[in-house]
Amino acid sequence: MSFEVRYTDLAGRIGQLKTLHGVLETPAFLPVVHPADQVIRPQFLRDLGFNAVITNAYITLKRHKELAIRRGIHNLIDFDGIVMTDSGGYQVLEYGDIEIGPETMAKFQIDIKSDLPVILDRPTGYRLDYERARDFVEETLLNARSTINMIKDHLGHRNQIAADETSDMQRPIWVGTIQGAEHLDLVKHSTEELAKIGFDFFALGSPVEVMEAYDFRLLAKMILTAKESIPNKPLHVFGAGHPLAISIAVALGCDTFDSASYILYARDNRYITPYGTAKLNELTYLPCSCPVCSFISVEQFRSMDYDTRIIQLAKHNLYILKLEISMLKQAIMDGRLWEYIVQKARSHPKLMEALIYIKNHPIMDSGTKRFKNKAAFFYDSIDYYRPEAKQYREMVARFKSSRARVLFYPEQDIKPFYSSTHYTNLVKEYEGFQICSYSAFLGIIPVELCDIYPAAHNLSNESHYDDGEVMENSRDEIIRAFKAFLSSNDFEEVVIYGNKAVRNSLNRNPLNHRNIRILEYEDDR
Ligand SMILES: [Zn+2]
Repeated sequence: MSFEVRYTDLAGRIGQLKTLHGVLETPAFLPVVHPADQVIRPQFLRDLGFNAVITNAYITLKRHKELAIRRGIHNLIDFDGIVMTDSGGYQVLEYGDIEIGPETMAKFQIDIKSDLPVILDRPTGYRLDYERARDFVEETLLNARSTINMIKDHLGHRNQIAADETSDMQRPIWVGTIQGAEHLDLVKHSTEELAKIGFDFFALGSPVEVMEAYDFRLLAKMILTAKESIPNKPLHVFGAGHPLAISIAVALGCDTFDSASYILYARDNRYITPYGTAKLNELTYLPCSCPVCSFISVEQFRSMDYDTRIIQLAKHNLYILKLEISMLKQAIMDGRLWEYIVQKARSHPKLMEALIYIKNHPIMDSGTKRFKNKAAFFYDSIDYYRPEAKQYREMVARFKSSRARVLFYPEQDIKPFYSSTHYTNLVKEYEGFQICSYSAFLGIIPVELCDIYPAAHNLSNESHYDDGEVMENSRDEIIRAFKAFLSSNDFEEVVIYGNKAVRNSLNRNPLNHRNIRILEYEDDR
């Protein structure tokens, strides 16, 4: 299987996945298409820029078996892009269809030429007790093994799922479904076993109910657990059709998503926005300029006949989902995925809860570049955890000064600060001192490291330094930074310039240095 990562930010990535029917650029959203009953024509999805869709192999098998085998799934659903097929674990359960086993499902998906077939899984859902969830996970793994054995027999090759380079383009990419839901040790076990079996493409199952409950923190935990074992493999998230869920999943390194939300929400009169959903009946305005919303009023929208309204609402919802993916990709390209996620988190407390949970996780650093072309923006306390700031502080933690005395003063607008007259004056006044500035976000900035990104290239909300406005935790962070710097460097003399807030803070949390002077800093900015 060929999956090439082109650009990264946080754990998010823009990649290219080669399939039987073309290259899929990720992150990608795959709208769910019904094998027969299509409200939105698949060609419309293609025109809109969705190069891949997902359809249900179980329903296809039940209703159009012969036709699908003869014509192939692409022809059957009239879509010439990439088609993923869900094996329909949910439906098999729902209809109690014991005749359909994992081998039958797998063979059928090969016969209809699915690009991304999925093993028949046993979805654990949400809030299933541990023992039953464990049984479901084991059953899914058993299915995965039978599927792989069947493929080997069927095609007479060894190791068909981990395709080699030469035959890359002739084989579907088999998808191993990770089950376990909130039982994270089962998620871990499930992922590790699927990786051992040899899958190259993974899908996180069961998060629909988790997302319906807006439990984005649990979703993040499930993703992090899976990513730990398979950090570089492509990861799909089943049933992720909410812009908030997609944004956090992309930041955590998920690559593809599918959902029928655009049509399910439409039937429920729900209008997707970049920040959530709204009831069409409760809107006074249409907060959107997609081709659907641009030419009508909310009253006109509401008064459409039922069928037309569903179609138009579904189309609007698709425009928003497309927009979400494009915004996320551009944020990755710009190295601004952190800012994007923080903005999203402001739109729902449950998403903020998830962001706070992941903010310090090493995975957030994994794809963040050390140097970026664009200035890092720091707004408030959560940005202390912005990976660029974290990486900078880690670098400073390794810094050893050769000087015997040190001077600290607050970060200035002129960057790098050695180019300011203020600095020139300080050097004259404090000859031989190690000179450092400090910031609520970057901590200590030694002059030797002040021209390194993001110290040289950032813009902060300066109210962090104003006497009346300094946030309590920012002061704590500054004090912590002084303490760390002084404990890793041995200075005979310490001079700190600080405004009232910093001085008060230092009085409350003394630095315990034998020779320290704290001086008033006149902020003349
Ligand atoms: Zn719209």
